[in-house]
Amino acid sequence: MMYPKSMSARKCKEKPRKIKSDEPKVCWLCGRNGCADPLDEHHIFGGYNRKKSEQYGAKVYLCHDRCHENGAEAVHRNPETMQKLHEYGQRKLMEQMGWTTEDFIREFGRNYI
Ligand SMILES: [Zn+2]
Ligand SMILES: [Zn+2]
Repeated sequence: MMYPKSMSARKCKEKPRKIKSDEPKVCWLCGRNGCADPLDEHHIFGGYNRKKSEQYGAKVYLCHDRCHENGAEAVHRNPETMQKLHEYGQRKLMEQMGWTTEDFIREFGRNYI
């Protein structure tokens, strides 16, 4: 019996659907590797944009205690760190997804830069 050869080699020249995660895996804020303080995954855009962050891979690693939750510079405690991270995330998304500022606002509802 003969089986037809699969012709499913579709050409994939679409835009990327999500951005690349940072390599190597180190803390976005301080660059530590998580040995002393395990790295958490943090969604760059929280609240109503958390789902979008997940969808587009807009996430970073942060030392759980020092840089994520409890330190003076921790992203959940320090509005300046949060702002820097939002800016970083927006630039990265626009660059890798090929978006303009308007495209970004259409997806995330506001401009962080
Ligand atoms: Zn977080
Ligand atoms: Zn850190």
